[in-house]
Amino acid sequence: MSDAPTALAADLVRRIRADGPITIADYMAACLTHPTHGYYLGPDPLGRSGDFITAPEISQMFGELIGLWCVAVWDAMGSPSRFALAELGPGRGTMMADALRAAAIRPGFAAAGEIVLLEVSPALRAAQAASLRGVAGFRWIEDVGDLPEVPLIAIANEFFDALPVRQFVRTDAGWAERMVGLCDGGLGFGLRPAGGSPPLGLAASAGVGAMVEMSPAASGIARMLAGRIAALGGAALILDYGYAVPGFGDTLQAVRGHEYDDPLAHPGDADLSAHVDFAALAAAAASAGARVRPVIEQAAFLERMGIAERAARLADGKTGETRSSIKAAVDRLTGPDQMGRLFKALAFSSLGLSLPAFDS
Ligand code: SAH
Repeated sequence: MSDAPTALAADLVRRIRADGPITIADYMAACLTHPTHGYYLGPDPLGRSGDFITAPEISQMFGELIGLWCVAVWDAMGSPSRFALAELGPGRGTMMADALRAAAIRPGFAAAGEIVLLEVSPALRAAQAASLRGVAGFRWIEDVGDLPEVPLIAIANEFFDALPVRQFVRTDAGWAERMVGLCDGGLGFGLRPAGGSPPLGLAASAGVGAMVEMSPAASGIARMLAGRIAALGGAALILDYGYAVPGFGDTLQAVRGHEYDDPLAHPGDADLSAHVDFAALAAAAASAGARVRPVIEQAAFLERMGIAERAARLADGKTGETRSSIKAAVDRLTGPDQMGRLFKALAFSSLGLSLPAFDS
């Protein structure tokens, strides 16, 4: 972790010198998934950003409740004898392992489900293989378009925040796109006139100085999942940090060595993410014909799925220390100042399905 420019920084400086500034989305994509220097292509990406621990790693209850959600959706679908259970960005594979363990209450579920994982990181694919040892049959896909042509239940936790965003700023002279260019021989932010208004519903209400973000990659994936679901049946559940009401602001953030970092300081050596625009995902899913539910907070999702009961069951007969760690995990996942409110849940389905936690 030296402060010398990273290999990717040198690469980007050459590229920008030759071809001109790049968008924030292109910069994020290079930092995260560049074939040799991308953060997710390196060893153990989740270990390096360390103490920003994700919900499935906080407690087994998280994945278990997602597993129960999937079983209820499968029941509502009429228990099809073949379907795909897909996870996008499965990390260490913990959530899928916990979900499948809980789903064993319905023996036909695992037999019918083809487990499909979308994962870019070789190191995390290896971790997923280890977590899913003993699971009969799972495979990886390279792209959402490679999902099998069967009904689909899709789940994703903290996947969409890793997808590249473009950023637009309202200036005196109209909209401009924020770019990464060169500054004193290194990387620096700049603006390029966006030519008219960016394709955003917000554009009209934005004052000078306002910034809006959009993620064509995230919307594209939501649209593809929704198209599958509308055509073949099923549902998707997306959990992440982000905003339900479109807002203005720069949410690009870098985490390196357990601390926030300057997003331009260590390309390829820091985790980059942006808050998820749930309204944009919802609109994309609706445009593809899925029935989209209003976004709810993670706390509401977990409470409606029975986290209190699950915690009580786990704590039953345990020592004081174990009981307090279970309580601490519930607080961390649902507390309003912890993950409960910042993290949201979005679900959409084919027509006529009732979704637990979203439809009363
Ligand atoms: N869901 C896990 C991991 C979250 S981190 C958890 O909650 O712990 C983000 C995950 O998405 C990682 O597995 C990462 O490798 C994967 N990922 C990020 N960008 C990706 C992309 N463009 N294509 C496929 N997987 C991606």
